[in-house]
Amino acid sequence: MSSMTICARFRPLSSKERRDHGDTVCIRCIDAETFLFKDEKDEEFTFSFDKVFYEKSEQAQVYEFLARPIVEDAVDAINGTIITYGQTGAGKTYSMEGPSILVCDEQKRGLLPRVVEGLFDCIKSSGGTMKHSIKLSMVEIYMEKVRYVEVEWLNLTQIHSLWGIKDLFDLSKDNIQIKESKSQGILLNGVTEISVSDPTEALQSLSSGIANRAVGETQMNMASSRSHCIYIFTVHQEVKRDDRLKTGKLILVDLAGSEKVEKTGAEGKVLEEAKTINKSLSVLGNVINALTCGSPGKANHIPFRDSKLTRILQDSLGGNSRTALLCCCSPSPSNALESLSTLRFGMRAKHIKMSPRVKFNEDKCAKKQGPASSPIKHESCEII
Ligand code: ADP
Ligand code: MG
Repeated sequence: MSSMTICARFRPLSSKERRDHGDTVCIRCIDAETFLFKDEKDEEFTFSFDKVFYEKSEQAQVYEFLARPIVEDAVDAINGTIITYGQTGAGKTYSMEGPSILVCDEQKRGLLPRVVEGLFDCIKSSGGTMKHSIKLSMVEIYMEKVRYVEVEWLNLTQIHSLWGIKDLFDLSKDNIQIKESKSQGILLNGVTEISVSDPTEALQSLSSGIANRAVGETQMNMASSRSHCIYIFTVHQEVKRDDRLKTGKLILVDLAGSEKVEKTGAEGKVLEEAKTINKSLSVLGNVINALTCGSPGKANHIPFRDSKLTRILQDSLGGNSRTALLCCCSPSPSNALESLSTLRFGMRAKHIKMSPRVKFNEDKCAKKQGPASSPIKHESCEII
């Protein structure tokens, strides 16, 4: 059993924050894992994470610590997940993509282009004893519609939010369904999978997906801060010697903004609508609570099915994955309340226990009648 890797990252102060509060920040670094945080009432809290990235930290450091071990494992058929969490403007997309996925300073490149390069580098260094192939999918979980149902006799309006999963490689597929397969876990039914054979091809595909996300946004008048973006790399590995097939899935998630909606000044129906947008993030919080607060020895209900987001992340949070969470925060006192809530979310997630394992694909695995003499690690031919 291992834990999730949880890191905090503070972006530099924005120019607005500097105008409002000068150079004042609400954190004081103690060391690379621990810092003091001062809230709005000057109360101090100490937080410790696996690593803290302060304002001057570089994108490469975040990749090396948080992502590289997960990328290397994905090539070895161990599932991995990397999630960015935090309020809008805290640096989730900057950490994930960098200023631009295709052209930007080497220094500023985000996790996504580094992950792509890392995957292909690992494959190259595996020395030809295995045949690898990488497929790429990209989806957005967005709030399709809010339906108001007037309940006259109670004199109230009930709100139903309908979430959809949109294929960012094919916008005509805007209602992708989630399925569960015994051999492959959670799947997105009919989602476009693009085979990519080198980093340039992968980055071009990702860039087209990102551009499609922006198109959807203007048409639907919806900001990306209100939807979750999910990048899925499926790495197939065929061991040439005995023809067995293993698959590692690497999922990157740029979550919707976690801010409390009251702060945005929304009122009435708009406020209620905004609350439902946050619902999938509160379900994520409930799932993390259920995973970490269960009574010992007692089966605990984990509400994965309560949102599409948690359903997709079921394998990642439920144990069969190496998972890392980057809690993105502003260092400004004006955002202290939201930062505190993000850091507390991260602290809770620290207690989730994971047990990542290799799974061989059912068909090829069955053909070979078990892995008895193979030298590959994590041998069990597990079919759940
Ligand atoms: P989010 O995706 O959480 O809403 P963004 O990633 O879009 O936030 O970041 C908001 C702004 O802050 C952007 O202009 C981005 O360039 C800047 N920013 C975020 N993190 C950093 C960082 N670590 N270094 C420099 N600028 C950053
Ligand atoms: Mg963003």
